This record gives sequence, structure tokens and C-alpha cells, in this order.
Amino acid sequence: MIPSAFDYVRPGSVAEALGQLAQGGEGAKLMSGGHSLLPMMKLRLAAPSTLIDISALAELQGISVGADEVVIGAATTHAQLEHHAEVARALPLIPATAHLIADPPVRNRGTIGGALAHADPSADWPAAMLALEATIDVTGPQGSRSIPADAFFKGLFETDLGPDELLVRVRIPVAPGRRMAYRKFRHPASGYAVAGVAVVLEFESGRCGGGRIAVTGFAEHAFRARLAEAALAGYAGQPDRTERLLDLAFDGVSPLEDRFADAGYRTQLGRTMLRRALADALATE
Ligand SMILES: Cc1cc2nc3c(=O)[nH]c(=O)nc-3n(C[C@H](O)[C@H](O)[C@H](O)COP(=O)(O)OP(=O)(O)OC[C@H]3O[C@@H](n4cnc5c(N)ncnc54)[C@H](O)[C@@H]3O)c2cc1C
Repeated sequence: MIPSAFDYVRPGSVAEALGQLAQGGEGAKLMSGGHSLLPMMKLRLAAPSTLIDISALAELQGISVGADEVVIGAATTHAQLEHHAEVARALPLIPATAHLIADPPVRNRGTIGGALAHADPSADWPAAMLALEATIDVTGPQGSRSIPADAFFKGLFETDLGPDELLVRVRIPVAPGRRMAYRKFRHPASGYAVAGVAVVLEFESGRCGGGRIAVTGFAEHAFRARLAEAALAGYAGQPDRTERLLDLAFDGVSPLEDRFADAGYRTQLGRTMLRRALADALATE
């Protein structure tokens, strides 16, 4: 399908992009990798009158790996994160997640900022960002603010980002003793998560003191399985405790239902992905 007609602009800075966004009103749309927006335009699910291409803005590029924090520019592609050796050492969950997104053409164009702003309920990055306790920096006409990943995802394709705001970067804390893993069951056509689970376990002196479990593909937006998280202290893979974690993680959550997976099947997939992610995380050092 062919999208409806639109104007295309390439701002030279974030400030210019914000000006164009304000000027264009409801018809203006930011475009980063275009790998969610353009398919929607081709299907006529979106018909922006102006596309503001922010993919080359210098302020949105770059990955920096510090002792306490990894900072990732919004326009960083999935592929750049998949192949970054320093990020892999500091936060192995990042390349593990990137590697499972779609296929190389999508990973070469799609960006982490675009994926988070789009907030597809089956996208992979939201689970990783929740489990890693990322902070999402955004800017707009009212100034800049930092949103914990926990407060960012609000609903189906809905985030805390205002329509006049731009996602600039994500910041992820780095700390010793973390073991992490991501598992997903891919939709056989798109590659999106039918159920995906990110696990970060916090170890000290060989003992798990707690951690985070985040789930995507399962509900209207990615979420942290807090009841299960509260039961992580002392976890070492004991079979009865694993079963308890699987029960707690999905307790009270209404699973999405679609033509591929009904509630029962999706729940089984969620449980299986969590079981595997826990085992993977325990097996890492
Ligand atoms: C065939 C196919 C398979 C896919 N499979 C997967 C998969 O398995 N897992 C997965 O997670 N994803 C998958 N995707 C989606 C892919 O990862 C997209 O790249 C991603 O969701 C959006 O990133 P983008 O940079 O392309 O964003 P765009 O398409 O450019 O933008 C998406 C939305 O975000 C907004 N936006 C973009 N950047 C910003 C910003 N900096 N600030 C504010 N708003 C912004 C845009 O206005 C738009 O509304 C798939 C896509 C395709 C086409």
C-alpha cells in the first residue's frame, strides 16, 4: 500500500525538531528508524502531514559506557546495541535483547528510542528497560524531564511521553553482581514477542538478594512482575521456588488474546519464558 501524501523535513537539532513538531500540530510526526511508523502509514493506520526525520540528529546518537551508567542515544539502532562489546560486558541483557528483535534489516534501521516511544505491547526493549531500571530522558517545550521506565509505559501504544516531547536518551545503571537474561517466544511471522521475559538477579557473596522480572507481549503494556520479584531473595533454582515464581508472576494479569495465542496458551508461554530466563540468569556469572 502507498501512504497518503506528506511533507518531509530534516531538522539540524533537537530544538529545531521541537519547533517543527509544535508548528505542525497534530499532523506532525517524529520519525526515527521508520520501521513502525512507515508500515502504519502504508496501512493507512497513520497519515501524518509532516514527517520530521530525527534519525541523523547528533544529539540523539552515541553510546557511552561508564563505571556506574550506560547512556544510549535515542537514535541508536538495535544493531548498534547488538554488536557493542563494551555494552555487552556491562549489560549483557542489551545485546541479548537486540539480537532477538526481528531480522537484520529491521535491526539496522529501527532504534531504541523509536521502539520505546511506540510502545508496542509485544516489543522487546520495554521488558529490558524495566528489568534494568532504566531512566528515559525526554525534552519538550516545557523543558527536560527524566522518567523511570516503571512510569513510562501506560497502556496499549501509550506512554508518559507528551505529543510535543522528544525522547532523547536512556540511562541504565550498572552495578556488580547482576546476572541477567532475556527469553522470548517469537511470533513466527513478525518476530515480535508473543511472550517475552527479562530477568535481572542481584547477587552478593554468592546469594541472590532480589532482582527484577519484566514481561512483554503478555498484556496491554510491558510490566514488572512485582509479586514474583518480592519472592526472589535466596532463589537458587530450587524447583518448588521456581514454580512459585511462575505462579506469582502472572497472578492477576489479564493476558492479551489474539488469533495466534489465546489466554491459556499465552500464559503457558509466559511461564515457560520465565522459567528459561531464570535458568539462563542463574547460569551466568
Ligand atoms: C517486520 C518487522 C518486524 C519487527 N519485529 C520486531 C520485534 O521482533 N521486536 C520488536 O521489539 N520490534 C519489532 N519491530 C519494530 C522495530 O523494532 C521498530 O524499529 C521499532 O518499534 C520502532 O523504532 P523506529 O526507530 O523504527 O521508530 P519509528 O517507526 O521511526 O517511530 C515509531 C514511533 O515512535 C515515535 N518516535 C520515534 N522516535 C522518537 C523519539 N526519539 N522521541 C519521540 N517519539 C519518537 C514516532 O513518532 C512514531 O510514533 C518490527 C518491525 C518490523 C517492520
